[in-house]
Amino acid sequence: MELLDGKKTSNDIKEEIAQKVIELKNQGKKTPHLAAVIVGENGASLTYVNAKVKACEKVGFESTLIKLPTSVTEDELLAKITELNTNEDIDGFIVQLPLPDHIDEHKVTLAIDPMKDVDGFHPENLGRMMLNLPCFLPATPAGILELLDRYNIETSGKDCVVIGRSHIVGSPMSVLMARNTKIGNCTVTLTHSRTQNLKEITKRADIVIVALGKSEFLTADMVKEGVVVVDVGITRVKDESKKSGFKLLGDVKFDEVAAKSSYITPVPGGVGPMTIASLMLNTLQAIDMK
Ligand code: NAD
Repeated sequence: MELLDGKKTSNDIKEEIAQKVIELKNQGKKTPHLAAVIVGENGASLTYVNAKVKACEKVGFESTLIKLPTSVTEDELLAKITELNTNEDIDGFIVQLPLPDHIDEHKVTLAIDPMKDVDGFHPENLGRMMLNLPCFLPATPAGILELLDRYNIETSGKDCVVIGRSHIVGSPMSVLMARNTKIGNCTVTLTHSRTQNLKEITKRADIVIVALGKSEFLTADMVKEGVVVVDVGITRVKDESKKSGFKLLGDVKFDEVAAKSSYITPVPGGVGPMTIASLMLNTLQAIDMK
């Protein structure tokens, strides 16, 4: 078994980006600028956003963190988005999800200028993805493609099962793994909460991508020997022995599944850091697209 080390790979990517930023500066060009909007005090969301801002600093990007209270109205948030859309200095921005119940996530996603949509959630970017046209790919699936690519995982003709059909991970992931691209060309099965006989389906898979948000869901009896496993899940579980008071668990029962796998991502240190790396790559791409 070999680890698909997202932490190391994302550090390699960050070094490459940092070099690119120096080149841009030397050419007298603009420093890439990523903004992140967060609404409310959700602990996990704050952690993710802070990690994104810190990563920007590390590669030499400019970053802006906009914290809005839970009480912010939908109109106020939409006005902030318009401001970011028109601010020439901001190359790309994200609105951290989830949002409070009184705000319509779809309205927010639709309000973001597709040319600044570095999370790749806008329908225009998702549509262009379907057609294999230049676009911002959704950050988490794009990070997974990059990780598989850098480990030279053969995907062409393979049987790939994706568990979970969310708009931000599972659904776009299934499209990307089926596209006629270097990392792609799989025969993909997209599974979800209504799927019957999931174990029979996953047992046939050469590649399993798990994104359902149920800790340690995928067990050794659900996979075949030599499988490639990508674990997207992140669940916080109480752990008094940790300073933070919790530990992070993935959607895969790691030890037993790792024993049968050829390659597997750990949690933490797998897909999470790759999501952040993709966000940075998308922000660089935003500059090129200008
Ligand atoms: P979601 O809650 O939007 O969707 C979950 C999906 O899982 C649904 O499509 C549902 O049909 C499916 N599902 C639920 N129970 C199932 C079952 N028993 N069998 C098969 N499918 C089932 O989830 P999401 O936003 O895609 O997130 C999934 C997980 O990935 C979460 O733990 C989230 O925190 C994590 N996540 C991690 C990153 C990262 O960067 N590492 C990014 C995004 C999400």
